[in-house]
Amino acid sequence: MAVRLLEDVDADDVGTVGGKAASLGELIGAGLPVPPGFAVTAGTYRTFIEEAGIDDELFEAVDVDPEDSAALREAEERAEELILGTPFPEPVREEILDRYRAMGEDGEEAFVAVRSSATAEDLPDSSFAGQQETFLNVREEDLLRRVKECWASLFTQRAIYYRQQRGFPHSEVDIAVVVQRMVDAEKSGVMFTSHPSTGEPQVTIEAAWGLGEAVVSGTVSPDNYVYDRERGAVDKVTVADKKVEMVKDAETGETVQLDVEEERRHERVLSDAEIGDLVELGERVESHYGAPQDVEWAIYDGEIYMLQSRPITTIREDAGGEAGADEAGAATADGDGRVTDDGPDRGTASNGDGRVTDDGPDRGTASNGDDDADVLVDGLGASPGVVSGAVRIVHKLDHLDQVQEGDVMVTEMTMPDMVPAMKRAAGIVTDEGGMTSHAAIISRELGVPAVVGTGNGTRVLEDGRQVTLDGDKGTIRAGESESAEPGEEFEPVEAARPETPVKPMTATEVKVNVSIPEAAERAAATGADGVGLLRIEHMVLSLGKTPERYIADRGARAYQDELIEGVRRVADEFYPRPVRVRTIDAPTDEFRELEGGEGEPAEHNPMLGWRGIRRSLDKSEPFRQELAAFARLYDMGYDNLEVMFPLVNDAADVEGITAHMREAGIDPETHRWGVMVETPASALQIEELANAGIDFASFGTNDLTQYTLAVDRNNEHVADRFDELHPAVLRLIGDTVEACRELGVDTSICGQAGSKPEMVEFLVEKGVSSISANIDAVRDVQHEVKRTEQRLLLDSVR
Ligand code: PEP
Ligand code: MG
Repeated sequence: MAVRLLEDVDADDVGTVGGKAASLGELIGAGLPVPPGFAVTAGTYRTFIEEAGIDDELFEAVDVDPEDSAALREAEERAEELILGTPFPEPVREEILDRYRAMGEDGEEAFVAVRSSATAEDLPDSSFAGQQETFLNVREEDLLRRVKECWASLFTQRAIYYRQQRGFPHSEVDIAVVVQRMVDAEKSGVMFTSHPSTGEPQVTIEAAWGLGEAVVSGTVSPDNYVYDRERGAVDKVTVADKKVEMVKDAETGETVQLDVEEERRHERVLSDAEIGDLVELGERVESHYGAPQDVEWAIYDGEIYMLQSRPITTIREDAGGEAGADEAGAATADGDGRVTDDGPDRGTASNGDGRVTDDGPDRGTASNGDDDADVLVDGLGASPGVVSGAVRIVHKLDHLDQVQEGDVMVTEMTMPDMVPAMKRAAGIVTDEGGMTSHAAIISRELGVPAVVGTGNGTRVLEDGRQVTLDGDKGTIRAGESESAEPGEEFEPVEAARPETPVKPMTATEVKVNVSIPEAAERAAATGADGVGLLRIEHMVLSLGKTPERYIADRGARAYQDELIEGVRRVADEFYPRPVRVRTIDAPTDEFRELEGGEGEPAEHNPMLGWRGIRRSLDKSEPFRQELAAFARLYDMGYDNLEVMFPLVNDAADVEGITAHMREAGIDPETHRWGVMVETPASALQIEELANAGIDFASFGTNDLTQYTLAVDRNNEHVADRFDELHPAVLRLIGDTVEACRELGVDTSICGQAGSKPEMVEFLVEKGVSSISANIDAVRDVQHEVKRTEQRLLLDSVR
């Protein structure tokens, strides 16, 4: 039998129909309203490949070197070709189509959802294995192809990569497929039947218009309802601005995203009565499983449907014995639950264009495996470390004093004014932002574990809830973890100091990035050869006023003094090692938050707007004061300072710069200064920049990547496409290093990618002069540089 009706299966059938189908069968068995459907069994897939005789070829095709991206890509393509190109055995085809046709009503074809349903035989962390395929609103003409596509999803590059890496045989993995009638949801969402960490009888419901995909994927901010089961009453209603909804297009049947009309955007999605009905169903599911559940639901024509249910807490904690094992099977196999569904590709080993890269310490990982049930929120692991603490939601600047020592601070996006609170926090979580956002940079420097770009942290996490944040994995879990360390303002200096007393001697200098002067001591303790980038944005923005306003209120000298104080703290710590201080590069939206920021232009694309050197040259007063401050530092004897200019495009920019330097009394001929290479223009114009007199060029790969790939570095929705190792970015960098060697210009990197081993290896091979890394990465970079240099030496004599 190729298919099994959902109503005929239960938790014991995970091995045959996969976790998703099994759990739907359970719900039906418990008398809950579940849309009808069937599962194409795992055995069907197995027979398909074996009878067609493609099995050996398939497994051979995917047995490739996981570190070879081209080979992985080819393997995925070949597997897909083999599976999609092989016809169904006729009886199987008939059986699937018969079952499908039986779901139609009134002579109308049914719209179905087709989803992969992983079997428990796969790796425990099947959420990693790629079995995430979901197709909505499928009809007969596409059905069989979609089923095969689910099968082929066993062989995505990511899935192949993981199995190859862990030596898990491809031949032992099976997959089932669920085909289920679509609910043309008018409203839908998710529900926690009990408080996820304390187990208190409190139901939390998230709801939005249209199909649930919008809520699950984080595309829309849903309404939030809290229901007290003891009192039997709605406790709290938070109505969100629901800008979009996903619906079935009446003509094409495809799922489309539409803007929600103005009146419905702010309207409550659920009435009290509907909440009551949902809660009742939730209680039934919970009592059926004997454990709190995370339920996906939809409402159509006044009827509630349950689409999926998974236990909230880890089975280990809550249940033992057989029931626990069953649920664990379901929960594990059911790897595409809501926690991970919102970004199957986010922060995983596969990057935007499908190539697989080393999932470095800073890449977020999707929650994985058998204990992902208690992951409340996930995002990009931006600053490493595991900590536990109470959630403190911070929406506005004036709430910052709420953040107490040891709290986990949760906010939409951090601002410079939040740094004192960030220092107190044990961990930091943001809704927005990517790996190079303010939150990510500062928390790394503070040594505070952080997860950024969660999309929904401020909505899902509740104030006061005890959570454990994992800054390596990019997860926030309910409750405390044994491995969590108590929050500390800074790691002690010893923690940053290299364990080996003698740092590796390298020909290529290894420097460190600093953005907050307080981090200077930790930074210097790494044994770095200097500071490759000292950002002053933080020093300026933390004054709370725009530079113009500050100067207007307190005078130019006072402004210079502020800068001098910050820069000096770093320059002292490193003297005589060089410190590259950069003139300001803050976008208008950051200035706008400050006192005096009212007049900042409202830009649609601040990243492409009035920032960096273009602003400094146009609006020169603050720029003049920055240079005047540096000139005073030179006069004080800080001859280890080097000035660097951001977001330069061409020689005209450099001419503007040298004119200002002279005016400030800094002779460009006798002082070392240089520019950031952050735009393709600057890379392509390197000869002109060299002729205009720069001493060094430093790759700002955060910006260079965003401008080369047209991927906003701060936008978590495209974070998986932000790839500093993209061949186009590497080509710009490689060519520029080569050109600079000819031109006698030093090269360096000070973007986040300077902390990645692959980039380090690439740059050392190309002959870069120095590399500047994050504090926590300096030691590894020193070793990587040494390894690469030694290999190059060996190669040259062999
Ligand atoms: C960069 O763009 O890589 C860089 C180091 O500058 P910032 O992150 O400050 O824009
Ligand atoms: Mg930059």
